[in-house]
This record gives sequence, structure tokens and C-alpha cells, in this order.
Amino acid sequence: MSPTLNDFEVLFSAEEIGKRVAELGREISRDMDPHSELVVVGVLKGAILFMADLVRHLPENVSCDFLRLSSYSGTQTTGTVRFDFDLTQPIKGKDVLIIEDIVDTGLTMTFLLEALRVRNPRSLKICTLLHKPSRAERDVPLAHVGFTIPNRFVVGYGLDYEGRYRNLDRILALPEDYEEGQ
Ligand code: 5GP
Repeated sequence: MSPTLNDFEVLFSAEEIGKRVAELGREISRDMDPHSELVVVGVLKGAILFMADLVRHLPENVSCDFLRLSSYSGTQTTGTVRFDFDLTQPIKGKDVLIIEDIVDTGLTMTFLLEALRVRNPRSLKICTLLHKPSRAERDVPLAHVGFTIPNRFVVGYGLDYEGRYRNLDRILALPEDYEEGQ
């Protein structure tokens, strides 16, 4: 049986997330070159809530774009990544900040960094809300990390389980000993 909302426990409240997102906004603003154009690239669908909140803490001269990759189903990573759709603008010579919901094995961000690097941006960095270092299969450079988390399956604040729970204002995790079908 699939997990229901009752099977999850709160990892980060809406308030904790709000505070951390504001801090990340300040960090990113401090790092920005005021003379160059920053393109903030949200990776759909998981980064929607994070991106929407984060950009409100960035200066008004940033531009927002989105792309969509597919790589994942249920609670298991498949390891294959492809573009479902791409950016709407060239990024040559621009500073690009990728906004991701979670870096788990690192396969998705390794693919994306390689795919965008060949377009010759001036700089290319990643800001991820969550990082699960215990599952890393690739060493991905992360410029900004919201929260480092243990190896737990999480939902809420953009993250889904089979399409559900993205709209929750908090982040929930399945218990460590949770097994599907229990
Ligand atoms: P990676 O390629 O780093 O293994 O996985 C990245 C993608 O896997 C994320 O963008 C996210 O869509 C999905 N993912 C990894 N861990 C979790 C998790 O705990 N919960 C959810 N909902 N998605 C996850």
C-alpha cells in the first residue's frame, strides 16, 4: 500500500523553511555580481514553491526561467535523465543559478551541469533546498544548500509522492524504518 499523509512526520515547519529561504536569499544576493545578469533557473516541478519564495528575496534585476527533467518514479531513482522541456532563452555569457528541490544521488544535477555548461554561461551554480549526502553517487558542487537531511524520503513544499503533497507548506519525511506495503 502507498504511504498516506499519516505515515509522514514533520521534518521542517513552514516557519523554519521561511527563515532558511530568506537566509539563502541574502547569501545569494551577497554573492551576485551587480554588473551581470543573473538567470534563476527553476527545475520543475519540485522547485516551484522554493523558487517562488526564494526569488522574492533576490534583487529585482534577476530573470526567471524553468526547465523540466524526468528521472524519478515512486521512491526509487531510475538513473536516466532527459529534458522534458528546456529554457526559453540563451544563457551564453550570463550568470546562471539552478534552483533544485533536492540533490540525492547527484545524477540529475551532474546531467544538468554538463548540459548547460556547453552553452557557455559566464557562471553556473546550484542552489538546492535539500541535500541527502549519504546517497551521493556523484560529487556535485553545491553553492547554496537549504538543509542537509538524512536518508529519508521527503514530501511537501514542492516535493511529491506520485504527484501528491507538493502543495504542503512544510516538509515531511517517511520514518527511517518505513517499508512500502506495511
Ligand atoms: P538525484 O538525481 O540527485 O538522485 O535525484 C534528484 C531528484 O530525485 C530530485 O529532483 C527529486 O525529484 C527526486 N528525489 C530524490 N529524493 C527524493 C525524496 O526524498 N523525495 C522526493 N519526493 N523526491 C526525491
